[in-house]
Amino acid sequence: FSDYEAQSRHLQIDAIVVNFGDTNPERNQTLNAVAELKRNDLDFPIICMMDNAEPAHESLALNLGANEILRWQDDKLVQLTRLKKRINTHKAINILSQHAYVDGLTGLYNKRSFEKTYQREWRIAARSHLPVSVVLLDFDYFKRYNDKYGHCAGDECLKALSQVIKSNIFRPSDIAARFGGEEFILLLPDTPLDSALIVANRLRVSITDKQIPHEDNPNSDYVTVSLGVATVNKIDDFEAADLINLADNALYKAKNAGRNQAFGLQLD
Ligand code: GH3
Ligand code: MG
Ligand code: MG
Repeated sequence: FSDYEAQSRHLQIDAIVVNFGDTNPERNQTLNAVAELKRNDLDFPIICMMDNAEPAHESLALNLGANEILRWQDDKLVQLTRLKKRINTHKAINILSQHAYVDGLTGLYNKRSFEKTYQREWRIAARSHLPVSVVLLDFDYFKRYNDKYGHCAGDECLKALSQVIKSNIFRPSDIAARFGGEEFILLLPDTPLDSALIVANRLRVSITDKQIPHEDNPNSDYVTVSLGVATVNKIDDFEAADLINLADNALYKAKNAGRNQAFGLQLD
């Protein structure tokens, strides 16, 4: 069953319908299969077909992860209608939960899901005594960009450069999120300051290399960004919010030093 998730993307599975079975071994096998399928975090519903007389089994199947029970005794048209409704509801829930953690404009994680991951990574790093870095990225003179080219063009610019941000994330544990407005954040677990500065500068160069015209940017003909990089080394002595505040200070310094640059600070 572990292949189902990969296969479902390929085959576009709408639902899996399992027959509960008539004998106890068959039913146990079905219940195990339902539980196993559920562990794979599938994005389609599991429908279990069973007889009328099995309330205890019905409750067990639902508790193990079946999304719907259908009865063999029901009219075929009713079964099919219920099945279609269940599939549609599942799709709607998937879309909604997607909105809960992904930013609508850029497709990057939103602030809420960043916070969740950040708290988790902070605890992991504290247990293992590893450094953590964050990079706050802010577009330079972006108000002027909107004033010059319009808010829609501003949105398109943020969208296009979010793809550049995304493509500059290489390690599985690193994440990029929209922190708000034209501010973005990278979380780089187990990364010391010098490496985080390399990531930040590589990203900065990738963004300027896109050469999105910004006539009212006094420092460049193109859209540029400033980045505040912050690293915590002795993590036990600090709180998660301290690192974000430090990245904010570093960003302020990068802005004051002339923008289109990264500035690093660390907590030891
Ligand atoms: P600085 O170099 O100091 O960062 O200058 P700035 O103009 O970027 O800074 P400021 O914080 O004064 O303004 C940020 C502007 O970014 C405000 C707004 O016009 C723009 N902005 C924020 N969020 C969005 C967004 O979602 N879409 C668009 N199009 N513009 C946004
Ligand atoms: Mg800003
Ligand atoms: Mg800005």
